[in-house]
Amino acid sequence: MSDKPIIAVLLDRLPEGCVLHDAEDLRPYECDGLSAYRSLPLAVVIPENVEQARLALQLCAQHVVPVVARGAGTGLSGGALPLADGILLSMARFNRILDIDVANRVARVQPGVTNLSISTAAEPYGLYYAPDPSSQIACSIGGNVAENAGGVHCLKYGLTTHNIQALEILTMDGEHMTIGSAALDAPGLDLLALLTGSEGLLGVITEVTVKLLPRPETAQVILAAFASVDAAGAAVTAVIASGIIPAGLELLDRPAIHAVEKFIDAGYPSDATAILLCELDGSSVDVGVQIEHVNRVFRDAGATELKVSQNEAERLRFWAGRKAAFPAMGRLSPDYYCMDGTIPRKHLARVLNRIETLSDEYGLPICNVFHAGDGNLHPLILYDANRPHHHR
Ligand SMILES: Cc1cc2nc3c(=O)[nH]c(=O)nc-3n(C[C@H](O)[C@H](O)[C@H](O)COP(=O)(O)OP(=O)(O)OC[C@H]3O[C@@H](n4cnc5c(N)ncnc54)[C@H](O)[C@@H]3O)c2cc1C
Repeated sequence: MSDKPIIAVLLDRLPEGCVLHDAEDLRPYECDGLSAYRSLPLAVVIPENVEQARLALQLCAQHVVPVVARGAGTGLSGGALPLADGILLSMARFNRILDIDVANRVARVQPGVTNLSISTAAEPYGLYYAPDPSSQIACSIGGNVAENAGGVHCLKYGLTTHNIQALEILTMDGEHMTIGSAALDAPGLDLLALLTGSEGLLGVITEVTVKLLPRPETAQVILAAFASVDAAGAAVTAVIASGIIPAGLELLDRPAIHAVEKFIDAGYPSDATAILLCELDGSSVDVGVQIEHVNRVFRDAGATELKVSQNEAERLRFWAGRKAAFPAMGRLSPDYYCMDGTIPRKHLARVLNRIETLSDEYGLPICNVFHAGDGNLHPLILYDANRPHHHR
C-alpha cells in the first residue's frame, strides 16, 4: 500500500491491474513522442470501462489531484506528459469498434482504437476514415480528436474536426456528456469543434462517432523532382491555383529524401533538391485527366523528373517513404524536435529558405517533410540530448 492517499484510494476502489504505481511500471508512461520532456506520475490508471474511468476521475476530483489522459502516447506536443503530482489516465483498454452503420456512413468506436483499424474494419463495406496521420498504425482516435490530427489526405478531405460527428465524454469531475449527435446537426453551440484539439483539457473522451467515406475507385501518385525548394513551393501554389484539389500534396527536401532512401527504398531521386508527392483520386477517367493536368503544371513549374505510379504497389511504395520519414530520422540523429505550424501556401519557399538559414546559424540540421498543400510545415530539428549545448 502506498503512503500517497490518492494511490491508496484508487487501489482500494478499482480492480487489481487497473492501477500502476511502482516506479518501473510507471517508466513507459514518462513521456509521449516529445521525449525531450519526461516526468513520472503518481500512478497510472488503466480503466476497463466507462464506470471505472468515471470513478477514477471522481476520486481524483475529490482529492484535488490533476489527471492527464493518454491514448497511444505518440503525440508530439507533450499533451500526454504526466504531471508529477497527478494521475495518468490511460485509455488503452477502450479498444473496441462498437458499430459500423453503413447506411449512415458512420462508425461508433472507443477512443483507444487505432486510426488505421477504423479504415480496416470499414473496408469490407467499401468505406474508410479519411484523416490519416503518419502515425496511424499506432495513434488512437481519442488522441486524434484531442489533437485535431491531420494527415496526407486532409488537404481534400479535412482534418479530424471535419470527420467526426459525436463524442461521449466525461468531464474532469466524472460527469457524462454527449457532444454532437447521431444526426449531421445538433442543437445549441458547436461544442464538438471546441472539444476537438483541446488536448484532453476539457474532458476525457470515452466514445467517438466518426464519419466514413466511400473508397475512391482509383488513386495514383505523381512523384515530381525539383532542383530547388523555391521551384517546388511555387509548383504547390500553381497546382491549387489551377483549380485542382489533390487528395494529398506533400513535400520532402533533400535531407529528408536522403534519410528516407537510406531507411526504405521508396524510389525517390537522390539528386533532387525537393520532391513533391501528389495524389489524385476519383473515377479512373477523372484521375487520368487530372494527372495530365498536374503533370503539365509541374513541368511548367520546372520539374526535372516526373513519375506516375503505375499500380497500387508503386503508389504505396511512394507513400511508404513519406510515412517512414519520421522514423528514418533515427538514422541521422538520436533525437528530433518536430515543429508544427501552418503558413499561407504562397510563402512556402521563403519560409523554407529562412529555416535553412536558421539551421546554419544554430548548427542544427533540419529536415523538412510536410503537408505542402495545406502549408502545414513540420521542420524536424535534429539534435542529441546528450550534448548539453543542443538543448539550451
Ligand atoms: C512518427 C509520427 C508521425 C506523426 N504524424 C502525424 C501526422 O501526420 N499528423 C498529425 O496530426 N499528427 C502526427 N503525429 C502526432 C500524433 O500521432 C497525433 O497527435 C495523434 O493524434 C496522437 O494520438 P495518441 O493516441 O498517440 O495520443 P496521445 O499522445 O496519447 O495524447 C495526445 C493528446 O490527446 C489527449 N488524449 C488522448 N486520449 C484522450 C482521450 N480519450 N480523451 C481526452 N484526451 C485524450 C492527451 O491528453 C494528449 O493531450 C505523429 C507522431 C509520430 C510519432
